[in-house]
Amino acid sequence: MDSKNLGINTICTHVGEVKDEQFQGAISPLYMSSSYQYDGVDVKRYPRYFNTPNQEALGKKIAMLEKKEAGMIFGSGMAATSTTILAFLQKGDHIVLPKTLYGGTYNFVVEELHKFGIEHSFTKGFSEEDFLSAIQENTKVIFVETPSNPLMLITDLEMISSIARERGIVTMIDNTFASPVNQTPHDFGIDICIHSATKYMGGHSDICAGAVAASQEHMDKIWNIAKNLGGSLSDYTVWLLERSMKTMAIRVKAHNKNAKKMAKWLQKHELVQKVYYPGLKDHPDHDLAKKQMNGFTGMLSFELVAGIDTNAFMKKLKLIKQSMSLAGVESTILSPTHTSHALLSAEERAHQGINDGLLRFSVGIENKEDLIADFKQAFAAIATPELV
Ligand SMILES: *Cc1c(COP(=O)(O)O)cnc(C)c1O
Repeated sequence: MDSKNLGINTICTHVGEVKDEQFQGAISPLYMSSSYQYDGVDVKRYPRYFNTPNQEALGKKIAMLEKKEAGMIFGSGMAATSTTILAFLQKGDHIVLPKTLYGGTYNFVVEELHKFGIEHSFTKGFSEEDFLSAIQENTKVIFVETPSNPLMLITDLEMISSIARERGIVTMIDNTFASPVNQTPHDFGIDICIHSATKYMGGHSDICAGAVAASQEHMDKIWNIAKNLGGSLSDYTVWLLERSMKTMAIRVKAHNKNAKKMAKWLQKHELVQKVYYPGLKDHPDHDLAKKQMNGFTGMLSFELVAGIDTNAFMKKLKLIKQSMSLAGVESTILSPTHTSHALLSAEERAHQGINDGLLRFSVGIENKEDLIADFKQAFAAIATPELV
């Protein structure tokens, strides 16, 4: 089997699987052993060395999905992010990140890096000029997250890798929102891909995990610190994640399709002011999204017209759940002002383009007619005559 030419569904279903030599079972057996023979073997296996049979199996699958040489599974997206960032920075070094970042990553950078003597700068926006003006002599890493949360703005990955390569800077992407189905940053020269596998990779809101894909050389560096920090994932959860990933590509394609339809439907509703979805032609980054993404994800945001209380609206939804997390097969919705961006000041939120009427919608795989019916009844329930 020439694994280089496999399609994405075949990679998701098979690549990396552990052969069951003893019973010829159809799937990877689960190895819960935390202790392995060390005498006379080449590889010293131990869960915190990230090299148990199940950890290695899933690592291979993620590596191939991201077109990288190596993959590693972590106990959470933040374990993957924090370990990878620390692997490439030392005292006196500097990292550049966009201001609009996943909250956990932002907190890690602001609260922890100074303890190691590592400096950071946030860019003002996502343009080449914004990144160039944040780069310093001692910059060693550029970290990006695209599409951004919650406005789904796109960073040009080719631009990032070209300014980084000229300066010997390592590039990292949080590829969680896109998933490897919709975006392969390697094709645009990005060095290291990081995922919260809690989201599309797991896909059923029942697993907390993280993943990293990189060249073997970069992964060796990450492994060296990972074994000291100890953010490994239990083999049982690794095994469950391998199962989830078998359907990842078909799930994500269903999310993409539903989100595009919901974006178009919401755009036409008189109580919706604006829809942010890179798959819409009027999204400011639509052309860039088309260039570097294969699909536009199941994530979108929309703004209700002024005067509608977003909390009252969300309470009326029956099928779509109010929830903090995202990217499960079930649809969820939240108000960034009251959750993910609650710690920012009102001015800071306004600066990032997040107003109080904004809602972030993680579109699930339910039938679109049922999602539309749920929105219709919720809009009807909150609409006062002067608003309609
Ligand atoms: C959820 C999330 C993370 C953090 O992942 P955990 O698994 O919760 O640690 C990082 N980045 C993005 C974009 C996320 O959505």
